Amino acid sequence: MSSKIINTLSQWIKLSLSLLLISGHAYANECNISLTANDAMQFSEKTLTVPASCEQVTLALTHDGTLPKTAMGHNWVLTQAADMQAVANDGMAAGASNHYVKPDDKRVIAHTEVIGGGESTSISFSTEGLTAGNSYKFFCSFPGHWAIMQGDFSIQE
Ligand code: ZN
Repeated sequence: MSSKIINTLSQWIKLSLSLLLISGHAYANECNISLTANDAMQFSEKTLTVPASCEQVTLALTHDGTLPKTAMGHNWVLTQAADMQAVANDGMAAGASNHYVKPDDKRVIAHTEVIGGGESTSISFSTEGLTAGNSYKFFCSFPGHWAIMQGDFSIQE
């Protein structure tokens, strides 16, 4: 076999493999979303979308800063857009021991614990009751963070 043919073949194999990896990746992860938060009080994403076919969504949050959770703690809270501010205020009152989320708050669709720099956490929640086209907000309920650390969450048909 000439080296040219071998070279072409190996290129083709590499391309096929990468296509396989890409499609496999997209398929496996469409109901799994992840984002990071940092010491500058920022989430890495401003919008999160999951397909309506997901019955369960898993959200992974990583704090890639270095500050402790008492100073720069972050969590991920999901509510209807209209509930965000009130839930954040009640969360602040609930305090650190409750991860800044009022216990048994029915307006909270899902939330993670508060984490500090270098830590990660995740939450799995059912999409039952969530509707495509509705406006949801995700935010960090650590005191003073929600005004900046927030984004839009939606279900896509
Ligand atoms: Zn935060």
